[in-house]
Amino acid sequence: MYFYLPTKIYSERDCVRNHADEWTALGKNALIMTGRSSAKNGSLEDVTKSLEERGINYCIYSDIEENPSIETVMKARGFGLEKQVDFVIGIGGGSPMDAAKAAALMIAQKEKDADYLYQKGSDEALPVVEVPTTCGTGSEATPYAILTIHGKRTKSSLPHRVFPRFALVDGKYLRKAPRSLLVNTAVDALGHFIESYVNTNATEYSRMLCTYGMGIWSSCKNVLIGAAAGDEDFDRMMCASTIAGMAISHTGTALPHALSYYLTYEKGIPHGMAVGYFLPGYLSQAKPLERRKVLSLIGFPDMQYFQSFIQRLIGTMEAEDELVASAVRGTMAKPEKLRNVPYEVSEDVLYRICDMAAGTAPKTPSPALRETP
Ligand code: NAP
Ligand code: FE
Repeated sequence: MYFYLPTKIYSERDCVRNHADEWTALGKNALIMTGRSSAKNGSLEDVTKSLEERGINYCIYSDIEENPSIETVMKARGFGLEKQVDFVIGIGGGSPMDAAKAAALMIAQKEKDADYLYQKGSDEALPVVEVPTTCGTGSEATPYAILTIHGKRTKSSLPHRVFPRFALVDGKYLRKAPRSLLVNTAVDALGHFIESYVNTNATEYSRMLCTYGMGIWSSCKNVLIGAAAGDEDFDRMMCASTIAGMAISHTGTALPHALSYYLTYEKGIPHGMAVGYFLPGYLSQAKPLERRKVLSLIGFPDMQYFQSFIQRLIGTMEAEDELVASAVRGTMAKPEKLRNVPYEVSEDVLYRICDMAAGTAPKTPSPALRETP
């Protein structure tokens, strides 16, 4: 076993301001990357004030779309090179945070063109600081960046590994988030826990993170189904998301993430929701002991309860047969995802998982689906 997570993580109220002496020391000229408006929730102000008070220059690229594309990253890289930045700060959900890692890589690799994003080679990148404002991706604690590849009509993780230097995690940025965003992103975090737990790369270390983190996730379930949420809930949801990121940084994700990318590309379904559809099916195929352990950690007596809870949160997948077929084919062609799955994956297994996502009876009922408490 090994454990490598070279990101300094501060998770506390006002951590952007409290630790500004440290993270602003990464450079003299920062590129701040955000989505189009959500960073106005106080997160951008905390960052810019910290920089201004220390005389650090900055420029802002605020045009990162959801599920950012290669083209967007290359535009941000051009902007960063022109401004001669020496570190990058991503503020927002996974989209700006991932785009910040990819831009930091491409600014450092300034002789390379966009093809380099998906080529193996040096991972040298400018230092990155991440400030999450959603409670799902855990990107602040992972080395991954996922971009949309229009040419392939899907999304894919870069082969490069860019661990942020600092993750500044503050639940207060969730205060004004709409419930749908909390739900979708919390379901993404749950996906990270389940796909990390049921994974060939799982170790005692990654499972320690999942076991503890799923308990925190479970304690916030009521918020997802409508209970009023307070600061303590936001802090716990953020914390669970970061821990889930730490877990997948060791194991990677598996089938639900691989299948989700096609749904997001073709139908614009938010990332967490697209992942969530496939979670009951993925878990139903796991070894009974692992399945029961996961269910108990997240607080469900059996698969039926779990599946109904997911359906209550996000509904069921609606996708044309053709789209399901291309998701299945595309996933079968991704050895880097298949090798993370601790059971044999065939097209049949994937179709079964998709049937559960659509809420239809599986074509070949698996014993797990008939399990009773
Ligand atoms: P997102 O795409 O970053 O943001 C979704 C929407 O939420 C945007 O419209 C954004 O607005 C808004 N938003 C963000 N924070 C908000 C807040 N506090 N209050 C109100 N609105 C807010 O969503 P995400 O689910 O966090 O990220 C998804 C991306 O992360 C996908 O590309 C996915 O593939 C990737 N991902 C990465 C990893 C990893 O390990 N790196 C893991 C899982 C997923 P603005 O556009 O105005 O900001
Ligand atoms: Fe995810």
